[in-house]
Amino acid sequence: MLSFWEQQELLRADIVVVGGGVLGLWSALECGRRYPQRRILLVERATLPLGASTRNAGFATLGTLGEALAHAQQVGEESVASLMVERWFGLQQWRQEFGDAALGYEPVGGYELLFAGEEHVCEAVEHWNELLREIFPEGLFREVPELARYFPGAPVRSVIANPYDGALNVGKALSALQQRVAQAGVLIWSGTAVEAVEPTSTGVSVVCWESTARRMLPVRAQVVAICTNAWIPELVPQADIRPARAQVLVTAPLAQRPFPAGTYHFHGGFYYFRWLGLRLLLGGGRHRALQEEETHEFALNPALQSHLEEILQQLLAGQEVPVEQRWCGIMGMRPDKLPKVEFVGERLLIGFGCNGMGIALAPRVGGQVATLVGEWLE
Ligand SMILES: Cc1cc2nc3c(=O)[nH]c(=O)nc-3n(C[C@H](O)[C@H](O)[C@H](O)COP(=O)(O)OP(=O)(O)OC[C@H]3O[C@@H](n4cnc5c(N)ncnc54)[C@H](O)[C@@H]3O)c2cc1C
Repeated sequence: MLSFWEQQELLRADIVVVGGGVLGLWSALECGRRYPQRRILLVERATLPLGASTRNAGFATLGTLGEALAHAQQVGEESVASLMVERWFGLQQWRQEFGDAALGYEPVGGYELLFAGEEHVCEAVEHWNELLREIFPEGLFREVPELARYFPGAPVRSVIANPYDGALNVGKALSALQQRVAQAGVLIWSGTAVEAVEPTSTGVSVVCWESTARRMLPVRAQVVAICTNAWIPELVPQADIRPARAQVLVTAPLAQRPFPAGTYHFHGGFYYFRWLGLRLLLGGGRHRALQEEETHEFALNPALQSHLEEILQQLLAGQEVPVEQRWCGIMGMRPDKLPKVEFVGERLLIGFGCNGMGIALAPRVGGQVATLVGEWLE
């Protein structure tokens, strides 16, 4: 039972963005900036966005060289190099929009630990620096084998540094972004799930389920952008993206940090760690249970969590530190690990595929979403 006013005015929008993660938020912000006279609605099914964006490690990273080499074998060097440049531009966008203090941003630099059998990564440093010279004239990567001494408990052979990576406080960044989206005039409905999107003769009908009031809300929209990441196939079954759960733990505070601040990765980006003050955040290991972790279920994987504890022991050279927090998040992985923004029908588009490194990329992909949205605005 809906009132005349609800039906006539409140359930109408020019643009609907579905999904309130970092990509949906940046898409909504870009739409708000470019189309200020339009009525824009962001619909998020959870009270706090529930996917990857509030549960990640906060690496504002361009990606490691080891991961770039593996990815380039699949999609070519040029695509991977431009993806890294896009992440760099995206990171600048975050910092310009909010300032470092609001993001809790620390320009700590990135470090990739290399082990036996990964000599080819060091050999590729100069080649990739050349590929990216125009954007990073001083060279993006540098081998710093002397830093291996910080990890006496792990057989680290060498380290590759990238001074352009940083770390941010995910809670602060999301909160700043949500506020900016609201300031841009976007209406945010949280606790509301989109159940279906159906084309009509004049636009798109967005069927929403409001859980607190337990009622359906049919919204009439001109254009709809779906940014629900791993859940896109629920609304657009042909979208090529799979869920990928990722596990994280955080230790109690240590007396002091045995190695410097930085965003650390190893094993082609499958493991990552950083300091949160004197606590260590460590995540990864998904490649050891790929099938099991291809799930939408928010649950800890005990085997992977105890594997992470073993890794923790190595990184801290046997120092006993209790684990105080554990969580998981659900990413969306595309087969080619490249982001994509495309129409899947008239007035209906999807923006997705930030994969495991969406922080830096989201402003750029959000900009592409806003560009395509503009094509259908009347
Ligand atoms: C443990 C972990 C660590 C990570 N570490 C990093 C890192 O350090 N650096 C980095 O760059 N990236 C990292 N990532 C990846 C990064 O978090 C993602 O790339 C990014 O958050 C994806 O954003 P998104 O908005 O596309 O998706 P999501 O954040 O998943 O947002 C999708 C949203 O859609 C909502 N939704 C779903 N279905 C519906 C529906 N029907 N109706 C309404 N809303 C719906 C969900 O509730 C969710 O809030 C990590 C991810 C995880 C899980």
